[in-house]
Parts: sequence; C-alpha cells; structure tokens
Amino acid sequence: MKPAPFRYEKARTLDHAIELIADDARLLAGGQSLIATLNMRLSHPALLVDINGIDGIDGITLKGSQLQIGALTRHAQAERSAEVARHAPLIALAMPHIGHPAIRNRGTVGGSIAFADPAAELPACLVALDGEVDLAGPQGRRTVKADDFFKGLFETALTPREVLTSIRVPAAGANTRVGFAEFARRHGDYAMAGLAACARADGKRLGDVRLAYFGVGTKPVRARQAEAALSGGDIEAAVGALGSDLDPPDDVQASGAVKRHLAGVLLRRVAKQLMEARP
Ligand SMILES: Cc1cc2nc3c(=O)[nH]c(=O)nc-3n(C[C@H](O)[C@H](O)[C@H](O)COP(=O)(O)OP(=O)(O)OC[C@H]3O[C@@H](n4cnc5c(N)ncnc54)[C@H](O)[C@@H]3O)c2cc1C
Repeated sequence: MKPAPFRYEKARTLDHAIELIADDARLLAGGQSLIATLNMRLSHPALLVDINGIDGIDGITLKGSQLQIGALTRHAQAERSAEVARHAPLIALAMPHIGHPAIRNRGTVGGSIAFADPAAELPACLVALDGEVDLAGPQGRRTVKADDFFKGLFETALTPREVLTSIRVPAAGANTRVGFAEFARRHGDYAMAGLAACARADGKRLGDVRLAYFGVGTKPVRARQAEAALSGGDIEAAVGALGSDLDPPDDVQASGAVKRHLAGVLLRRVAKQLMEARP
C-alpha cells in the first residue's frame, strides 16, 4: 500500500519543529517505524515534520554522573560508541538485537523511545537503568523519569506538540552490574520476550536490582517481587515471583503461557550475568 497524502516540512531548528508540529502532524526521525505505519495506513497525518536537520539533538556526552544520548543518535552510532560501552554497558549489550544493520543505520534512539513499541529493547533498558527522558514543547522543557514515561501500548508522556530531545542514564560505576537477554524467532526480529536488568554489587549481594521485561505487556514491565527476591540472592524464588509480577497476553509471537515460561529462562540467564563481575 501507499501512504495517504501528506505535506512535508524540514525543521531548521528545535524551535522551528515545535512551531510546525500540531495535533495532526508527526515527526520524522529515522522513519524505520513511521514510514511502515504510513504505508499500512495505520497513521495518516496531514504533515510530516522532518527533524533530521536539527543541530544539537544528537551526540553522546558524559554530563556529570549521567550519560546523555541525543534523540537523533542513530542506533549504529550508539552501538559503536566507546562512551556507551563504558558508561551504559546495558545499552551496548542491547544494541545488536535491534533489527538489522540497515535499520540501525537509520533508526534513532529518540525514535525508538518515542515510538514505545512494547517489544523494543531500548525502552526496557531505559527503565532498567532508571533513566530520564528530556522533552521540549511550546511550554518549555521538562524531564520525565522512564518509569513514568511509558504509559501503555505505544503511549507515552509525550504530548502531540513535544519533541523528545535526549535520554539520560546514570553512568555505570565500578559496582554496576548489567544483564540482557531476549528470545526472538530470528536474530533481528522483535523479541517474543526479553529482559534488561541493572543492579549494584554490594559485597556478595546485589542491591538496587531493576528488572525490566519487554514483549510481555503493553509497555516495559518491572518485575518488582522478583527484584526483591534477587536482592536476597535467591534466583529460584525470583523466578517463582514472576507468577505474580507478569501476566503476558497472547500475541502473534507466542501464547502468554510460553512467554511466562521464557521469562523464567531469561531471568536465570540474566541473574547469572548480574552476579558476575565485569571484566
Ligand atoms: C524490519 C524492522 C525490524 C525492526 N526491529 C526492531 C527491533 O528488533 N527492536 C526495536 O527496538 N526496533 C526495531 N525496529 C524499529 C527501529 O528500531 C526504529 O528505528 C525505531 O523504532 C524508531 O526509530 P526511528 O528513528 O526510525 O523513528 P521514526 O520511524 O521516524 O518515528 C517513529 C515514531 O516516533 C516519533 N518520533 C521520532 N522521533 C521523535 C522525537 N525525537 N520526538 C518525538 N517523537 C519522535 C515519530 O513521530 C513516530 O511517531 C525495526 C524496524 C524495522 C523496519
């Protein structure tokens, strides 16, 4: 199919983009998700506002105790970034699982977070890392915690007139432990179920455990009871707790029962990663 007719404008600056966007407009970043939804006529905005020419909303910078990743940073840039590998190793682990190289060359970090596909890797990483999302709109700038940003199926705290400008995550320290695993039918497909995790090594124990599942609900899902059990060092109790933490619906990829089983397998794998010191 072909998209419904739309107008196209190229934003020169962030302010220009904010001026152009309206309720029936969509921002165009990498286009890897948007163009497909237009072609399938799942979305038919009157106007596309291309943000690819805006300076200052790309790039990866260490700012104090946080790593900031600009919205227009391509997945491939983040995948190859020494800063991401060093300061956000969870994102580095997740990157190769996002689609294929051609998709990662165009797709942006901001687009993935704004699109909020429940089976996407980056939203779950952002939640696991207790990150933040920076937004700019007609009323000025604001920051939203990842836990509050993802609201439901493809639904976020973004209003139709806001631009996501960057994400920020706490820079990893010597005691930071991360873990990542997913099951996909083929490498590069959206995951049937996946898990992004972060913790702080506290002697032989784990503190501040955050487990964010993807592909098992309408948005990234924290497994809070499993987090508590894992902090106590009991992996099997953590797997048992998933029964109350997760209620995955059936979808085209797998039944809820299969996803629940996979969630337990993922947790055993990721718990092992969390308990191993980083080289
Ligand atoms: C075959 C295929 C396989 C894929 N597999 C995966 C996968 O396994 N995992 C995965 O996570 N993703 C996957 N993707 C999606 C890919 O990661 C996309 O790049 C990403 O979801 C959207 O980023 P984008 O820059 O292309 O955004 P676009 O497609 O340009 O935009 C997506 C949506 O976000 C909005 N948006 C974009 N940028 C901003 C911004 N800065 N502020 C506010 N709103 C914004 C747009 O208006 C639009 O509604 C796949 C895509 C394809 C085509």
